[in-house]
Amino acid sequence: MFKAEIISEPNEDICILLKVENHSFNYICECGEAKNLSVKDCQNTNAIFISHTHIDHFVNFDTILRHQIGIQRRVVIVGPLGIINQIQNRIKSYCWNLIAKGAISYEIREIINENEYNSAVLQPPFWEKEEEKTVSEAIIFKEKKFSVTCSVLDHKTNSIAYLFKGNDAIKITLEKEFTPGKWVAELKTAFDENDKYKEININEKLYNSKDLFHLINIKKGKKLGIIMDHAAHEENHLKIKHLFTNCNEVYMECFYKNDDKEFAIKNYHSYAAKSGEIMKLCNVDKAIPVHFSRKYNEQDITELIAEFEAAKN
Ligand SMILES: [Zn+2]
Ligand SMILES: [Zn+2]
Repeated sequence: MFKAEIISEPNEDICILLKVENHSFNYICECGEAKNLSVKDCQNTNAIFISHTHIDHFVNFDTILRHQIGIQRRVVIVGPLGIINQIQNRIKSYCWNLIAKGAISYEIREIINENEYNSAVLQPPFWEKEEEKTVSEAIIFKEKKFSVTCSVLDHKTNSIAYLFKGNDAIKITLEKEFTPGKWVAELKTAFDENDKYKEININEKLYNSKDLFHLINIKKGKKLGIIMDHAAHEENHLKIKHLFTNCNEVYMECFYKNDDKEFAIKNYHSYAAKSGEIMKLCNVDKAIPVHFSRKYNEQDITELIAEFEAAKN
């Protein structure tokens, strides 16, 4: 369903490119410096997700903007409280006299909490805030086949962790006497609406929908998480467990080695063993440690990943 690629090199800032099966757009998670992010990747992006605006997560936004001018559609940007002003300020620092309205527009959603966000639209040439509103909704982004929810973690500033979830698929197992027909869709609708007494007509015989519910199989949608910078403390861990338990795949911040735990505490970051341990407690199928301190060399990073894996398994 989801195919994520860490597009940044190990010596660059974090940037993850997310593609979705049978879906023509892609998604950028974190705007760290990433030279391998191509013009086409940027132009084909439907939404950008940013955990927080420390420079290593936001520095490449201008490059993405540079490539998106002229795509003539709206791109959604999701980020922490304050990001509407921050993006507006970044954009307004350039001169836009030759760019017409319609070249691009951004709908920015800044997360207030897990159930509420502010939204505003910015577009050239003046980039003033338009369509400002506050939305009460846990789903912060939705497409036909998937939706995104979030958790607000503490990194001495808000750091938004994102969960991408594919829609559940309802499949109906056909038994001998039940040949395919219009009733299949009717039964799915009755199940969706929890309507137990809908009359379902199969080959001129009437059934109550509840008597056919046993034919239904629910295939759970895949879940992919992106958890960036956060303090390794109990409150954050409870939130992570709440949202990311039983995920298929999670990209997990792992900024420090275990020996540098003191730095992790001081800088509101996580460290190898703690990140691995939380992924184990969440029963995540595939947990990928990402976003390492720039002070580490290749050998350090190998050791850091081994510390994460030891705690995860
Ligand atoms: Zn940070
Ligand atoms: Zn960071």
